[in-house]
Amino acid sequence: APATIDLREYIRNIPDFPKPGIQFKDITPLLASPEAFRSAIEQLAAHFRGRGVEVIAAAEARGFIFGAPLAMQMGAGFVPIRKPGKLPYATIAQEYQLEYGSDRLEVHSDALGRGRRVLLLDDVLATGGTMKACIDLVHSAGAELVACAFVIELSFLEGRARLTPPEVFSLITY
Ligand code: IMP
Repeated sequence: APATIDLREYIRNIPDFPKPGIQFKDITPLLASPEAFRSAIEQLAAHFRGRGVEVIAAAEARGFIFGAPLAMQMGAGFVPIRKPGKLPYATIAQEYQLEYGSDRLEVHSDALGRGRRVLLLDDVLATGGTMKACIDLVHSAGAELVACAFVIELSFLEGRARLTPPEVFSLITY
């Protein structure tokens, strides 16, 4: 049997990035390790196997990195959620608040069909603002949200409390 991998060993803490006081979790060592990257995707797939997930939806940019291989592993489709003006076809949009000002996420209007079983995914759950916007997009489209999944959850920011899906699942919690 393969040695168990402690994914925490592949997450690098960067103090004061991008601003003083922020402890940034850098996932690039995990991505650079074939064993750790594969383990992360396999653990996510194993957790959600048998739940009828048809679509993995994830927001750019780091959500894409985990979303595409997870979709492959699970036999699901992949739907990109993007910053404004990037998607070529008709879109639905959701505004969300940032620390200063607001931002907007978009998804193709036909990508999350009515009743499709969707798993939302991102690399990090911080305040939950980004994932909340993604949840609102899934609901606007009339699709069925199975769960929200993360590689890392920063539990001290209490982002989980802002989310109302059937399940919030994280591989690593700080
Ligand atoms: P939230 O909207 O505050 O939950 O922030 C989540 C978004 O910001 C995710 O899309 C993450 O990619 C990114 N993010 C926030 N904190 C970190 C971090 O420490 N490391 C990597 N990405 C982060």
